[in-house]
Amino acid sequence: MNLKQYEIEIRGLVQGVGFRPYVYKLATEMNLKGYVNNDSRGVNVFLEASVSDKDQFVKRLYVEKPDVAEIAAINVQESEMNLSTETFYIAPSKELQADVTRVSPDIAVCEKCMHDFQHQEHRVSYPFINCTHCGPRFSIIKSIPYDRPCTTMNEFKMCEICESEYTDPSDRRFHAQPVACNHCGPSYKAIWQGKEIRNYIEIVTIAREMLRKGAIVALKGTGGFNLLCDAQNEASVQKLRELKHRYLKPFAVMYESVRKVKENQVLNNKEEAVLTSWRRPIVVLKEKRKLSESINGKLNTIGVMLPYLPIHYDLFRYGGPECLVVTSANRPGEPMLVSNTQARNYLDPLIDLYIEHNRDIHNRVDDSVVRIINEESQLLRRARGYTPEPYDLTTSVEGGLAFGAEITGMFAIGREHQIILSQYIGDLTHMESVTAYKETMERLIALFRFKPEYMITDKHPQYESTRMGNEMAEKMNLPVYRVQHHHAHAVSAMVEFQLNEACLAVTWDGTGFGDDGRIWGGELLRCDRTHYERVRHLTYVPMPGGDKAAKEPWRMALSYVVSLLGKDYDLPCAFVERIGKEKIGTMKRIMASGINQTETSSAGRLFDAVSSLLGLCDINTFHAEAAMKLEHTGSIDDALEAYQINASNPWDLVPVLDGILSDINKNTATSCIAKRFHLTCAEMIAAALIKESSASGIRNVILTGGVFQNKLLTEILISRLQKEDLNVYYQTKIPCNDGGIPVGQLAAIAAYREKNKSNM
Ligand code: ZN
Ligand code: ZN
Ligand code: FE
Repeated sequence: MNLKQYEIEIRGLVQGVGFRPYVYKLATEMNLKGYVNNDSRGVNVFLEASVSDKDQFVKRLYVEKPDVAEIAAINVQESEMNLSTETFYIAPSKELQADVTRVSPDIAVCEKCMHDFQHQEHRVSYPFINCTHCGPRFSIIKSIPYDRPCTTMNEFKMCEICESEYTDPSDRRFHAQPVACNHCGPSYKAIWQGKEIRNYIEIVTIAREMLRKGAIVALKGTGGFNLLCDAQNEASVQKLRELKHRYLKPFAVMYESVRKVKENQVLNNKEEAVLTSWRRPIVVLKEKRKLSESINGKLNTIGVMLPYLPIHYDLFRYGGPECLVVTSANRPGEPMLVSNTQARNYLDPLIDLYIEHNRDIHNRVDDSVVRIINEESQLLRRARGYTPEPYDLTTSVEGGLAFGAEITGMFAIGREHQIILSQYIGDLTHMESVTAYKETMERLIALFRFKPEYMITDKHPQYESTRMGNEMAEKMNLPVYRVQHHHAHAVSAMVEFQLNEACLAVTWDGTGFGDDGRIWGGELLRCDRTHYERVRHLTYVPMPGGDKAAKEPWRMALSYVVSLLGKDYDLPCAFVERIGKEKIGTMKRIMASGINQTETSSAGRLFDAVSSLLGLCDINTFHAEAAMKLEHTGSIDDALEAYQINASNPWDLVPVLDGILSDINKNTATSCIAKRFHLTCAEMIAAALIKESSASGIRNVILTGGVFQNKLLTEILISRLQKEDLNVYYQTKIPCNDGGIPVGQLAAIAAYREKNKSNM
């Protein structure tokens, strides 16, 4: 047989996920000779094989790869090294200093480890069990390459058994950096009734019992501390709300198994796949039967996740609670607690049982949130299980540091052709989140050996992120660029779908600072990565009381009616009754005075206004409450007819508002009006796109901005647009909310700098 020698480069998420042992096994099984090693770009294989064996090998590399691994590319070249090897072996890692390594996200405990958890002698009931395919990654890494001394596992010396597994290529734990067992690894410690408890079995037994009795338990998890309680115990859920100062915002829950989820929620195949994936995010599902109003109010959707740590599984066993509320241990908008000392001081006096462990969390990561829209998973909050997977570009973004927006505190760094988006940190209107944001930035800069060359911020002069960007740029004497908020949204989608040519971007959003100093959020942009033109926007209306109007939808309801239909237009009786004639009168006078009322074209405010007119929500107690209630109400109706829209100016809101108010006067069911409003929005967007597309010849359409988290609207719109000759893109991997802003900022300015290279 004619043997040849090959060099095979494998790029993608192939480190820290058991890829080398996998290659080793495959090659040995196929009787091939050569070696495999890591460098900071990925995995390399040197192979001696016949052409057909080589082809077979590459094919199997793709097909049989570990679940967590993601292969971006495999390049095969005939080698000129002329090496002779007798066997196949795993060679030491090569480090290329300047290059970028992919760091794996944290991975939920795998099935094989859960089996070892019950049977493997030195790991029976060892709650920090892990292998090359599972366990903590990003949360424990301090620097690259991903080797034990660079992680917070450095504190723990491997015992002899672990060491032998770690060094045996045929073992499941070969080079599993966090490998540990009952003899040598991290351990839990509980504080209960003033006593310290260190025996794991004792800790979970007490925890189960306490939870069943209605207690609140603090538990240190993968990326921070969580608070847990029995989801079916109203009193405990209320107690947890008081403790967190989170009075109405829905909680996410955890069930033991898919079977339990299916008993309570509607679960389609796609949802099940995401729910059970190694990433283990919270998935927003539709309830089959109501769990409890104290969890999610009257909404029919609920955030659900499955266990991702051995201790989670143990809490459900032996008659433990059937369903747990799992929430981060912090006040709303603030970052998750990660340090034992801080957590103990803050939590121990407030709760019934406190459980910590002695493995440090270096990078804080909250739970991620996913919703399936039109059979695609849409990432709403990107953190555990996703961060720090990069987004690949075709051009360089090296040196760019993008500061993002405000409520969704996140940033991004550019390394070569990759954008690394930080995890969700917190709401930057809270000081604690600003501190955590700075700390996270320092850590990711160190981890990825990043040297900032330029900064990018939002155009909003008052964002804390803008201020930080300016400050840092000044300190380091680097240039700072600004990107308009909605252009950043659009470019983030262009990155996801690798679009380089002109697009039509529907950016329906909450708030974004516009070029005219007004608040945008309902625009149609004609844009590419560096330029945009605002071709259409929703009718401007004032925001009476400025920012307050975003928190109090009734102000926007009044504003739309008064500014579009006149100050003497009859408001719905129920609205007047709820708000009070006097308050309405005062607000009308304020509106007439023109003081403190920025104008806005925000679609988010329009949804707020309609929600209030329908009596669903007059004051937001949490972000997007009014819009969520409006979506929920519309989703339970089967109305099919939109309101009349103005054919020559489809985004004219006068006929739409008129239709809604006359339906309210006719006592049409609220759910029917809510549904008709969603249908109308879809018609408005479709009509505008058809007009603009035929005028400009552009067929690529982007739907982005926080409004497209609305499943009802997005699904109606997508099916409506299927009838048209358009390529419709809506975001799945990069959040369409402000979590995606740093990606758009960075890609927009990198493209701009590339274009203007010669004159810079
Ligand atoms: Zn495992
Ligand atoms: Zn050990
Ligand atoms: Fe936004």
